[in-house]
Amino acid sequence: MSLIRSWVEAANDPACPFPLNNLPLGVFSPAGGAPRCGVAIGDKVLDAAALERAGTLPLADAPLLDRATWNPLMEAGPAIWSRLRTILTGHLAEKSDTRDQLEPHLYPLDAVALHMPFTVTEFTDFYAGRNHAFNVGTMFRGPENALPPNWLHIPIGYNGRASSVVVSGTGVRRPWGQLKSPDHETPAFLPCRRFDLELEMGAIVGQPSSGPVTVAEADAMIFGYVLLNDWSARDIQAWEYQPLGPFQSKATATTISPWIVMKAALEPFRTSTPEREKPLLPYLAEPEPMLYDIDLTVELTPNGGATSTIARTNYKEMYYSAAQQLAHHTTSGCPMRVGDLLGSGTISGPTKDSRGSLLELSWGGKEPLSLPGGATRSFLEDGDTVTLTGAARGEGYTIGFGECTGTILPALADPYAR
Ligand code: CA
Repeated sequence: MSLIRSWVEAANDPACPFPLNNLPLGVFSPAGGAPRCGVAIGDKVLDAAALERAGTLPLADAPLLDRATWNPLMEAGPAIWSRLRTILTGHLAEKSDTRDQLEPHLYPLDAVALHMPFTVTEFTDFYAGRNHAFNVGTMFRGPENALPPNWLHIPIGYNGRASSVVVSGTGVRRPWGQLKSPDHETPAFLPCRRFDLELEMGAIVGQPSSGPVTVAEADAMIFGYVLLNDWSARDIQAWEYQPLGPFQSKATATTISPWIVMKAALEPFRTSTPEREKPLLPYLAEPEPMLYDIDLTVELTPNGGATSTIARTNYKEMYYSAAQQLAHHTTSGCPMRVGDLLGSGTISGPTKDSRGSLLELSWGGKEPLSLPGGATRSFLEDGDTVTLTGAARGEGYTIGFGECTGTILPALADPYAR
């Protein structure tokens, strides 16, 4: 697959995250305007809702884009998903004869506000990166018991909170919680001291299910992908996680990138999961490659300081694909809904500089990271900004996700001191 050229000139730059091949979906508001469905192209965002109203983007009998969320389009199903891409590609292609009709509906990306691109109906977070699971297991339980006995057989996950998912740019308040440090006999209620990030991808379910589905059916149900930062309070987590897994340590906030990259834009980058260390049960077998080759970075910017890249890795490091996770999620008969969000689990590579959390990068605080200017970090400090980026690199073009960013706000006063 090579670059599809557009008359929006910036979209033809090989480094531009939003070429015509991408067409990611967001919700934006221009200055003084209401939020609406938009599509990023080059350095612009196209008001897709206005196009639909004008009859230039005929998708279905009833409007699908008249609310500031992409859920109705997802509900309309895969035939409409590809219809959207086909019509927009025609309008925006270099040789298009509808440029005059489109131009009034383009806004500069740097002059709009971005909002949640879809309504998160449910949120599940997995633990499907082998390097991450091994590293964290080693720190929490020692290297002999690092990987639990089920890990190579089941994509482990927990039911998260849809209510905690926020769009990139939203401030993240340091939480209070019950925690117990190893050198104290009793637990205490304190502001989190080991606040962390987790580099993940989020898969968005675009079609519902009401019983067990196969991995192939699960793949077909997935609408698109976002970057996802699962903010994690490690000291709260270490005290609360046994035996039912994380609870309040993961419930403060989860940040997603503002653009949904549709599965169709990622097709050229499909790749297989790594070789199985233990054979999977047949219901989890991948019938075709279902992971994606997406370069990922984590950047850290202290308040007023310089930005540095603290980790580089790739989505293809995951042991389980989102389709395998989704299929496993339905084995019980658990119904999946349109707008269900599945976190991949932290994506860590095999090397020290490819670890997707500070817990691993600083090895539990034992080996603090050095930042430019002499500062060090074991965990996040107030005012730190964390930015995740992702890029799938094609022939002469890049598929980007936009930034997934959040700044740590200081803990408020003790919420129970009143
Ligand atoms: Ca996670």
